[in-house]
Amino acid sequence: MVKYKVTLLKNECIMCGACAAICPDFFEMDEDNVSHLKNSIQNGDKWELIINTENEKAEIQEAVDACPVDIIKIEEEN
Ligand code: SF4
Repeated sequence: MVKYKVTLLKNECIMCGACAAICPDFFEMDEDNVSHLKNSIQNGDKWELIINTENEKAEIQEAVDACPVDIIKIEEEN
């Protein structure tokens, strides 16, 4: 099964709210009004979440496309 790693560079978020509006299953604005990737784990300056379905990838891709500062990434994970 293909797995994907979603990463969010939370420190670079400009708080526009687009990801949480478009993809609320995976993103929410935290108490500081910065994007939070739900159920993710912090790894240095990145917040990471492993997903393993194409449906999840498609849903998150909408947030990737909407983010004006391009800080949400999806990459294949071995
Ligand atoms: S779309 Fe990008 S800049 Fe806007 S809240 Fe989400 S992560 Fe932050």
